[in-house]
Amino acid sequence: MASFAETLISWYDDHKRDLPWRGETDPYKIWVSEIILQQTRVQQGWDYYHRFLDNFPNVKTLAEADEEKVLKVWQGLGYYSRARNMHAAAREIMAEHHGIFPQTYDKIRSLKGIGNYTAAAIASIAFHLPYPAVDGNVIRIVSRIFGICDDVTQPAVLKRITAICETEIDPDQPGVFNQAAMDFGAMQCVPRNPKCNECPFQSSCYAFKNNLTDTLPIKKKKGESKHRFFHFTIYLSDNQTIIEKRTGSDIWKNMYQFPLTETDSEKWPEKPVFATREVLSHQIIHAAYYVKNVKKLPKTAENQSVIDFDEIEKLPMPKIMILFLKHLE
Ligand code: SF4
Repeated sequence: MASFAETLISWYDDHKRDLPWRGETDPYKIWVSEIILQQTRVQQGWDYYHRFLDNFPNVKTLAEADEEKVLKVWQGLGYYSRARNMHAAAREIMAEHHGIFPQTYDKIRSLKGIGNYTAAAIASIAFHLPYPAVDGNVIRIVSRIFGICDDVTQPAVLKRITAICETEIDPDQPGVFNQAAMDFGAMQCVPRNPKCNECPFQSSCYAFKNNLTDTLPIKKKKGESKHRFFHFTIYLSDNQTIIEKRTGSDIWKNMYQFPLTETDSEKWPEKPVFATREVLSHQIIHAAYYVKNVKKLPKTAENQSVIDFDEIEKLPMPKIMILFLKHLE
């Protein structure tokens, strides 16, 4: 089976965008393109990239320019600290690196205005160093394909995603891998309505297989989303099971589910046969399902009833139940 990197790069070979900085190996020009693209759409960035390089073709000319001129060339792009930081970093390169663009990740990362992502992009594309450039696109791709179902705004989760990329990156062509991931996120695995039907990862993608492309990546906004842990037990006896109706003022009122125990953690004495999540506006439901084959069904509670398993689908059910039934099929 092809590796993640092989599949990604093969997709890239067929679909890569034609961008003015493609094929560029000059770290200065890669740096300019990456900084411009941080908060700018590609089409607008394209014009500014040419304009910036016409005015400041290399580190030296940028370092020697007046800050006012740099800001003027940047005018209209917004986020002016980007231009100020580049100007300061160019002066730093002249003063501390003899005008030569630093060639290690750590030295690149230490320049003003350069974060992990930009340092990795420059290090990999210009110097073939195996650092994954993890931005929003890559977070989305990895969380969908590898099934990262935790809040990606948490540093520990971002670390996990970065670790996956470090394992998967092609050490022989890290720059191509990073650019392929950028294009794949921008063109194929887009935030809304990703093009799953023509995707080379379809057969292995966790989000696609579990119907979670709308849910992943999970980004918890501050002060929102309570986590709830639902454990459903499916009792089976002669094709019959117990189903219960949700009552009270909670979510999914009057819909049906298997007998539920809600706890405040994922912990449960048994291993679930299926687990999924649903993100609602103020809560994330973590659902786990446990099957019990029994000789005799247990006594039902007031809101529960015994039903033929085949009849369940006729009842109104929340999405997490439908996903489980699909999984059983
Ligand atoms: S199958 Fe869909 S969600 Fe998965 S990687 Fe492809 S486009 Fe993205």
